[in-house]
Amino acid sequence: MTLRLLILGGTSEGRELAAALDGEDGLHVVSSLAGAVPRPRLPVGEVRIGGFGGVDGLRRELAGFDVVVDATHPFAQGMTRNAAEACATPLPDGRRIPLLRLARPGWPVEPGWHAVTNHDEAATVAAGLGRRVFITVGRNELARYLSALRGHHVVARMVQAPELELPVGWQILTVRGPFTADDERALMRQHRTEVLVTKNSGGEQTRAKMLVARELGVECVVVDRPPAPPGVPSVPDVEAAAAWVRRTASTKSIADPTT
Ligand code: NAP
Repeated sequence: MTLRLLILGGTSEGRELAAALDGEDGLHVVSSLAGAVPRPRLPVGEVRIGGFGGVDGLRRELAGFDVVVDATHPFAQGMTRNAAEACATPLPDGRRIPLLRLARPGWPVEPGWHAVTNHDEAATVAAGLGRRVFITVGRNELARYLSALRGHHVVARMVQAPELELPVGWQILTVRGPFTADDERALMRQHRTEVLVTKNSGGEQTRAKMLVARELGVECVVVDRPPAPPGVPSVPDVEAAAAWVRRTASTKSIADPTT
């Protein structure tokens, strides 16, 4: 029997998991991307692109799969919630689809960081810390900074610009990472950044800016992660996720992700 695996991706971990498992005997791997950015980095193997149409659409799609790994970004709340709900109850054919969350750990909060729980709070805190703000929270959340940071000098970096009317003094940089420490140092010096606002994404790919901010004495406002959906087992890295899939494939039963 071939185990049909759906990877919910859009992250380096999603691509690495596909690369690790694609082509293995007894596995058929399909990666799913949201289609939210132009020219996405594609995983190896079969790829589908675009939303499923909410929980109902995802459940219809799951008829063609045996197991799901949710490797979406730690802040991709909608997809993670939908996956948890779609897999929580049996499909019309009677099968309950096992779901594993693959989420890299967040960065430990450092002394001096301004840790906040949401973007509205981040905007207010950032506004009080300095006039020159560098925002790296992505396009979806930028609108939540407009009001508090109107009148500030703001540089917001993201892959794709949002459709927003920007206040005077705001600038969008559309560019795709990862960025080296030299890149981040040059950018923060060029814009004389006083405050950095970011999400606690974790991992190494976006960490250079945190190290450079500390080096340059830039205040860091860090938005904490949304809570994980209850009842979904989670692993912190690609190796553990691949091992879970292989064990599930070999035993034809749901493996324990902690063993
Ligand atoms: P989101 O709020 O969790 O998802 C919004 C909707 O986009 C979902 O309800 C789903 O639409 C669709 N979607 C999201 N991920 C999908 C996937 N892998 N395959 C198919 N459909 C998907 O997501 P987001 O925060 O906008 O992020 C979009 C994508 O970018 C995610 O795949 C995520 O991994 C990646 N990403 C996000 C961030 C971030 O900070 N949020 C950073 C880096 C990469 P339907 O309801 O129609 O199924």
